[in-house]
Amino acid sequence: MIAELICVGTELLMGQILNTNAHFIAKELAPSGIDMYHQVVVGDNPKRLAEAVRTALSRADVVLLSGGLGPTDDDLTKETVAEALGKELVLFENEWNGIVSYFESRGRTVAPNNKKQAMFPKDAIILPNPNGTAPGCIMEAEGKAAILMPGPPRELRPMFLNHVLPYLLEKSGHRLYSREVRIFGMGESDVTYRLDELIKHQSNPTIAPYAKTGEVTLRVTARCRDDAEGEALVAPVIAQIRATIGDVVYDTNGRELAEVCHHALIDAGKTLAVAESCTGGRLADAFINYPGSSAYFVEGDVTYSNDAKMRRLGVRKETLDTVGAVSEECAREMAEGCRKAAGTDFALSTTGYAGPDGGEPDKPVGTVFVALAGRDGTVVKRLNLFGDRDRIRHTATLNALDLLRRNICTK
Ligand code: ATP
Repeated sequence: MIAELICVGTELLMGQILNTNAHFIAKELAPSGIDMYHQVVVGDNPKRLAEAVRTALSRADVVLLSGGLGPTDDDLTKETVAEALGKELVLFENEWNGIVSYFESRGRTVAPNNKKQAMFPKDAIILPNPNGTAPGCIMEAEGKAAILMPGPPRELRPMFLNHVLPYLLEKSGHRLYSREVRIFGMGESDVTYRLDELIKHQSNPTIAPYAKTGEVTLRVTARCRDDAEGEALVAPVIAQIRATIGDVVYDTNGRELAEVCHHALIDAGKTLAVAESCTGGRLADAFINYPGSSAYFVEGDVTYSNDAKMRRLGVRKETLDTVGAVSEECAREMAEGCRKAAGTDFALSTTGYAGPDGGEPDKPVGTVFVALAGRDGTVVKRLNLFGDRDRIRHTATLNALDLLRRNICTK
């Protein structure tokens, strides 16, 4: 099956916005076995859009369109495509009521020109848009289909994944099976560099990297007939990824780092307490986020001041006076004191400079110490993190979780 993408918007042609919808759709379509030979960008001009639609319909089975579903006069995609397919638009009461309640729920009044967004050919398949006003739609004619999606990425992406991709897969007789390899402790460029050969030479399954703050995910997706065939295709590739990048892989089933720790603690029957300074409760939150955490999570102390570190955790005054609160010694004493006070198998601690002010010449903002105290001793890790306060606190939390994850099975 051949698909063609038409992104509509003069802003795209003028370079005012980046065509991230094309990037997203192409990346999501790649593993499906649906070929895309052309992508077109066209302005908000009915004549040129009609020409692009006719050309696309002449050489593709499915034409995907993004943008131009808004209420204003220059939003013409639906009208133009319907005309090219010889279809008339009629008002869909259901969709109109949906648009009215969307506005009402936000305390806004709906304008008469919004009615345009509830007009579709009578045989159209409607694609719901819970994130905006304009529903998308599929218009089928003579064995071909045009699929219209709104321009804003936060509306288009869920619509594409939840409705468009399943429609395309069903039409093409394929299905997709994916697993997510989760990585912590190696940046996206390093991961893709090391896996370059594997990524380049894979066509089924495909490997798609996604980065989010401090972490990388590789989605391994196979085109298959059923889950068993999918797993048989995906499993050896995941094994190769593990063999190449090693223990920075913390999960191969898409679980979060905290979720992996949560299950590891439950499985091992071990208990945990946390003593936090710069992460200010995020570490405790990461665990308590998961139902069932009461099985192992005993307590969390946010000891932000030196006084609290001494009073609640038994950090020595001498440590604070000599090497300071942001030090290997302090992190160690925090974790050990916390473990002793809580009577747990493990205790994690964090202390560091989250910025933007503070730091010392040899410990600039971003210097964070995380420690894990266990029955067999204490491990402390010094981190040199970067970014704003939020990012430093987030990545410090992840590093503390990773320290636990790496140690939990051996202690
Ligand atoms: P709306 O109902 O919000 O008017 P629409 O379907 O009419 O949506 P457009 O008016 O074409 O969509 O675009 C709305 C916004 O969506 C643009 O200003 C831009 O921010 C974003 N957008 C549109 N097309 C793309 C694209 N191809 N890639 C990334 N962003 C896009």
